[in-house]
Amino acid sequence: MTTTIGSAPAALWVLVPVYDECEVLPELQRRLADVFARLDCAARILYVDDGSRDGSWAQVCAFSAADARVHGIRLSRNFGKEIALTAGLDALAARADLDACVVIDADLQDPPELIPDLVARWRAGYDMVYATRRRRLGESGAKRLTAALFYRLMDALSATRIPRDTGDFRLLSARMLRALAGLRERQRFMKGLFAWVGYPQTQVLYDRAPRAAGRSKWNYGRLWRFAVEGITSFSTVPLRLATWIGMLTSVLAFGYGAWIVLKVLVWGIRVPGYASLMVAILVLGGLQLLALGIIGEYVGRTYLEAKQRPLYLVQDSTPSRAGRAGA
Ligand code: UDP
Ligand code: MG
Repeated sequence: MTTTIGSAPAALWVLVPVYDECEVLPELQRRLADVFARLDCAARILYVDDGSRDGSWAQVCAFSAADARVHGIRLSRNFGKEIALTAGLDALAARADLDACVVIDADLQDPPELIPDLVARWRAGYDMVYATRRRRLGESGAKRLTAALFYRLMDALSATRIPRDTGDFRLLSARMLRALAGLRERQRFMKGLFAWVGYPQTQVLYDRAPRAAGRSKWNYGRLWRFAVEGITSFSTVPLRLATWIGMLTSVLAFGYGAWIVLKVLVWGIRVPGYASLMVAILVLGGLQLLALGIIGEYVGRTYLEAKQRPLYLVQDSTPSRAGRAGA
């Protein structure tokens, strides 16, 4: 079960998704280089530019020109972090010179200085070492609360165990990475995919720092879509929920119907009933729309999967290799 490194020096790749991060990239590059100097294995960086509109790609090219260990690929537009990560994982899975890969955010919220700890745990025989936040600095109470609620909800709804307070900052062994590259679903909830693959996993605790510079691309709209993504990709409980609600309301409705018939038979027809009629129509109408909406979420996802489009398109890469598509 252990990841064998063999006698050859192990090679580590650091994968960084980048979207409009030109303010933090020089600092990130400097800190990664510092960490690499302390590592006892060969280390390289792959930046995946997710269609940045600022000077991020020019910076990646400059880093790559100055340092042969730096590689970059540029996607044809902004595809979102999960797809950017997938593009990076695909590019790395195709490489022979990879023993492990560390996924890290560009904004320095994940300290690069933790990488030697991750590597040490990997050498102890784990396929995935995830960095779990002990505290979240510089994030609002509301964001912390919604994140906590999300993890609890995922736990309740899904059979795949998703570690709490764990972002994408983690180390993956070569076989873990190749397994991930084999999951080609369009709706990519990476945290869930990582957990789905399995293999021996462990965690390292750290304190999450506030963003070094620039702005978080998160907002509540994104968070909501992310949560719906997570739940629908890993659970069909909402669909069953609709069945349960339907069953419960039918039982109540039959009971109430029987009671009305009995009333008419015993006391004769009495006209008033507007209030109960209205309530019944509105409640049932609301529940039906809710159930339709839930079904719609799943049908929509089936539709997106059915189209079988490539997940992303590569526009450019450095050291230069002309455009390839990731199927
Ligand atoms: N990112 C990306 N594509 C996007 C949005 C973000 O590649 O569409 C990258 C971003 O550059 C950063 C990481 O994903 O390296 C995390 O983004 P961010 O800091 O905005 O998210 P948060 O830390 O607030 O969850
Ligand atoms: Mg961040």
